[in-house]
Amino acid sequence: MFWRRSRHEPAPEEEAAGPGAPGQAVEEPGVEAAESGASSPDPGTSSPDPGASSPDPGTSSPDTGASDPDRGGPDASPATAPGASPESSGEPGATIADGLQASRRGFMARLHGIFRAGPVDEATWEEVEETLIAGDVGARLAMDVVARARARRDQGGPEAAVRAELARLLPAAATGPWRPGRPDPSLPAVVLVVGVNGTGKTTSIAKIAARFAGEGDRVILAAADTFRAAAIEQLETWAGRLDLPVVAHKAGADPSAVVFDALDAAVARGADVVIVDTAGRLHTRHNLMEELTKIRRTIDRRLPGVTPEVLFVLDATTGQNGLAQAKAFHEATVLTGIVLTKLDSTAKGGIVFAIEQALAVPVVFAGVGERVVDLVDFDPASFVEALFA
Ligand code: GDP
Repeated sequence: MFWRRSRHEPAPEEEAAGPGAPGQAVEEPGVEAAESGASSPDPGTSSPDPGASSPDPGTSSPDTGASDPDRGGPDASPATAPGASPESSGEPGATIADGLQASRRGFMARLHGIFRAGPVDEATWEEVEETLIAGDVGARLAMDVVARARARRDQGGPEAAVRAELARLLPAAATGPWRPGRPDPSLPAVVLVVGVNGTGKTTSIAKIAARFAGEGDRVILAAADTFRAAAIEQLETWAGRLDLPVVAHKAGADPSAVVFDALDAAVARGADVVIVDTAGRLHTRHNLMEELTKIRRTIDRRLPGVTPEVLFVLDATTGQNGLAQAKAFHEATVLTGIVLTKLDSTAKGGIVFAIEQALAVPVVFAGVGERVVDLVDFDPASFVEALFA
């Protein structure tokens, strides 16, 4: 079930979207699945969240949504969901060691082979440098690592020296799993998820949302990537699978208006976390900066004092190119964390060292598979251990 505002009250940033733009909805796809077309006169009572006492502000007109042709999200069949796999099967997720198998067999195995091949000379070090570059460590960083390793006299020999120098590049182990900052517990934490389309942004949002919801948080998703109808539908489909509410407008609506409504809904329901999907196809840095600035201003107006976390989704298989994207986003808005996706699909796990050096933004999660459970907390010590195992 989902419902819409009967009277459209524009959010402060919404004017820019122009007349006739958004029709909004807060959807409860899980409830719809359970009630199958039943239309409740009181949206508030049909929330899966027992603690939610009031419906979203301004939402007054119940609407099954089943006949809305331009949206389709709520009716999307779970069978067509991305990465179809049963979330409720209780299957354990992949571990960081599983996710790094390809890298271990790839550039790390090659590194090991080089040192075992015979006496270490100039050519050996050149080959080490090439191997690190091929493993996505980056050219300049590879040169630095080799120079430093050559100057060391480790007990374990040159190979141990290279490993120690690589390990040095990662920050000290985090103190625990990443959580979004929430200085005022009476207000929700806000997480903006940014990144280029195709990197695994939506899947990562689903994984993170499922994680927090599983820990007892009330999570609301906001479909603020309004550039593509498909992006909205995809998030709605995930929300349905995970039984989480999602705030969505029509494609082409003002993303800030979506965020505003999501924050309203979050406050009304006493949500703990709002996770916002943002557009991944902004053609210029100027557009990107404008849009993210506007979203941040909306958050600031609606929830003064709440600073959003900004997680950048980086596809490990795109290597140095992904790093260039991250730099562009980092210039447009301050990133507070990286979600490194598809680590399982690359033999070039060296990208992690390059990220930490180039951005000094911590990798907080790693995606190690397509299932919603395939998300690991990124702990540098475990990463190094698994990579060098
Ligand atoms: P978006 O366009 O950035 O939202 O990307 P999607 O979330 O739709 O993901 C694009 C593709 O990458 C989908 O086929 C996902 O299943 C896949 N994907 C996402 N994360 C991972 C991951 O950690 N590992 C693997 N192997 N595939 C992933």
